[in-house]
Amino acid sequence: MRPIKPRSCKVFAENLDCSLPKRKQILGDSGSTPFSAAVMNRPRIRTFSLHCRERFGQAVGKIPLDLGITCPNRSKGGCLYCCPASFTPFSLRATDPIDEQIRRGKQYLLRNRFTRYFGYFQQETATAMATARLLPILAQVLEDPDCLGLILSTRPDAIAADLPGALANLVDQTSKECLIELGLQSIHPASLRLLNRNHSYQDFLAAARRIQAVGNLQLGVHLILGIPGEAETDMLTTVQTVGNLGVQALKLHHLQVIRDTPLNTLYEQGSVAVFSRAEYLELLLRLLPHIPAKITLHRLWSTAHPNLLVAPRWQSLTGALSKELQRLMTERDIWQGQQANSK
Ligand code: SF4
Repeated sequence: MRPIKPRSCKVFAENLDCSLPKRKQILGDSGSTPFSAAVMNRPRIRTFSLHCRERFGQAVGKIPLDLGITCPNRSKGGCLYCCPASFTPFSLRATDPIDEQIRRGKQYLLRNRFTRYFGYFQQETATAMATARLLPILAQVLEDPDCLGLILSTRPDAIAADLPGALANLVDQTSKECLIELGLQSIHPASLRLLNRNHSYQDFLAAARRIQAVGNLQLGVHLILGIPGEAETDMLTTVQTVGNLGVQALKLHHLQVIRDTPLNTLYEQGSVAVFSRAEYLELLLRLLPHIPAKITLHRLWSTAHPNLLVAPRWQSLTGALSKELQRLMTERDIWQGQQANSK
């Protein structure tokens, strides 16, 4: 594998701030549910940035942290598309102790843009670590007054029976927050099989119910748009189904083909199609109205390192994508939740 150059903070910032402009015109004259004046002045998408400004009165960053463990799915071949280096920022070194990872995250990622942050365990599958070992590390992260909470990105089959209760206690004791992001990608069994996820939609539902049962944890879901074999109706079904589960957050992104993955082999064989930039923006314009307005969208696109990315290569920074999406939503008077059952 060729060496990976440092990943630019500008690209990484897509997770942190992609707010869109406000809806200004009177809505509700197209047969959809009318919005109140207060709601009309809200932005067209509930971004993470907007959520943080409402919740904390300021923009908040994320510092990726690495426990140095391996995802259990790797022993089963790993997910078709997965390449850990593609989502590892240059500042993060798994061999560093957690306090050094936080220090470097503040120095290289937050810089002068953010004074507060979430500890973001996105690498591998953090909750595969036994709860008794994991909790002290999480508690250590929360000790930092600048840290407002945790985001744990994980798999549905890696939520130990004792984890939700232990996390809920930690949240109670520290008065901070904890969002658990469950990787689902699709509700469709054929897609989960193709991606080699090695869990079912029922596994996801069981984990989601256990997380939601403890009350003070937030639940997010990670979905991929453009899985080979899925039509737009399949993606819409996934988005609508997940949107109605009472989740607080969604991470959506287009399928990216990363070097040295099984997906890349399929792509080279010609059996994988990827979205053009215009196709993906049009897809978002059709899907976003079906996502309830109260759900925070932490991500709308992937940002794999250019040295690893095979396709699609849009040559666009996320800021430009956000601007283009906002222009199209304004032009066509589209907003998140416009056609959702629950708003
Ligand atoms: S579950 Fe996540 S970390 Fe594990 S192989 Fe799949 S994508 Fe990679």
